Amino acid sequence: MAQSLAGPEIERLIQLLARMPGLGPRSARRAVLHLMRKREELLAPLAEAMRVAAERIVTCTTCGNLDTQDPCTICRDPRRDRSIIVVVESVADLWALERAAAIRASYHVLGATLSPFDGIGPEDLALPRLVERATSGEVREVILALNATVEGQTTAHYITDLLSEAGVKVTRLAHGVPVGGELDYLDEGTLSAALLSRTLV
Ligand code: ZN
Repeated sequence: MAQSLAGPEIERLIQLLARMPGLGPRSARRAVLHLMRKREELLAPLAEAMRVAAERIVTCTTCGNLDTQDPCTICRDPRRDRSIIVVVESVADLWALERAAAIRASYHVLGATLSPFDGIGPEDLALPRLVERATSGEVREVILALNATVEGQTTAHYITDLLSEAGVKVTRLAHGVPVGGELDYLDEGTLSAALLSRTLV
């Protein structure tokens, strides 16, 4: 094991930060050094913000989003179209769609996608609550905003079957040419999908 270069408190901070996605031990050491140098203006406020967040973060019992209130800020927003539910795999996907600001609907976070090889079955996904919401009478469309992977598409098919009797329109994201994409650079799968999901101009 590498020799410690700082006290145990600092080493612990480095170890914890190194577990963050996108940070390894090297970046974590650099970040901790930066925090130590800026302890008044950065380390202390960050520690306080994290303490408050750790106390208050809850999972929204309606949609599965993470927030400091339940129902979450999105579920409470009166300007949202509650007749549309956008189904996503993770909170990260929900946040990505919100950043795009293309739709002001409500969401449903599944928590995972079906993956028999990894032992992830329907019981591991937040499906009963989705069916409950979709059949509440308020919802007219469920948009499946799932990854264009085998797992994402398997899950989309499963949910489409599950909601076939719910009396709601089930749609999915288009597959095709990315904005700014050049045809010459696309893989065959993306090109075929784009041709199959062509639309009238
Ligand atoms: Zn919510």
